[in-house]
Amino acid sequence: MTLTETEFGLSPYPWQGEHWQGLCTAIAQARLPHGLLFSGIAGVGKAHLALLVAHKLMCTPANSELACGRCKSCQLVKAGSHPDLMLIEPEAPGKAIKIDAVRRVTEFLAKTAQQGGRKVVVLAPAEAMTTAAANALLKSLEEPAGDAYLLLVSHQASGVLSTIRSRCRLLSFGQPPAQQVLPWLTPLVGNRIAPELLLDMAGGAPLAATDLLEGDCLENHQGLMKGLEALALGQMGPLELAAQWLAQDHQQLLGWVQVWLSRLLRALQWGAGGEHENLTWAQRLMGRGDPAILHRYYEKVGRARLAFSSGANPNAQLLLEELALDWQALCRAMAK
Ligand SMILES: [Zn+2]
Repeated sequence: MTLTETEFGLSPYPWQGEHWQGLCTAIAQARLPHGLLFSGIAGVGKAHLALLVAHKLMCTPANSELACGRCKSCQLVKAGSHPDLMLIEPEAPGKAIKIDAVRRVTEFLAKTAQQGGRKVVVLAPAEAMTTAAANALLKSLEEPAGDAYLLLVSHQASGVLSTIRSRCRLLSFGQPPAQQVLPWLTPLVGNRIAPELLLDMAGGAPLAATDLLEGDCLENHQGLMKGLEALALGQMGPLELAAQWLAQDHQQLLGWVQVWLSRLLRALQWGAGGEHENLTWAQRLMGRGDPAILHRYYEKVGRARLAFSSGANPNAQLLLEELALDWQALCRAMAK
């Protein structure tokens, strides 16, 4: 789902109540910061909430909790043609947000609001900005003109220029409690898989869990798990595995690897979370290994993921082959 496809009039997700209330209060008391960074793991609905804030800021009566949907301003937002609301995202997922796009933002923010109200920019994901683009944005954050708001969304805040981060109020989105997510998720799952397991596979991120239900994601995820195991047990070569990975959505795949690694780390360090079969073999193999090795690999996967999401356009084959070779070496080192 892209920013521009998101429908007007939706509510916050059930696990976002606290953030939403805080934002509503800040808007009502006219103390919403001009720069906000919605930061946290992917798939918890940060962009969704940022858009709700944007819609609410545009709504003229501003006395209902959600944007009213009836005023002229809301009608324009609904039609996707409000001149004072700007949505910025990469042209395609995984591509960079370039300086031209950010120049449009700075020009937009420098002008007077056409409808006489506020001006709002939602930009997602912030880590997709090139360094030149991020630097160009800094000035707008330093000297916001008039009643203007810049809502940045980031799945990997470490990939956002620190000078940008320090000029924004940070809103952190952690993994929501399962008891808030499962009543929402369960009716969407059907009988393909247990909702608890699905949420776990998605690293506790509800929207990542529903993404797993799309197309052949569940099968791809299972294939990934099998591949990691097969390479570890010497039933498959690293280049063969890397070739399989190359054919898939790299960012999604590496995100799944990270989720699985973090569960494995928890299981190895605290003996927690080992109830799923795709962890047992690894626990058995690596039970006496040094978790620090696994942790370094987790970080390396994170850097590779960032390379794909930041629009750096890395050589995917080389990067994935390196990760597969490292995984083989890691399993050997951990099995000693
Ligand atoms: Zn309205």
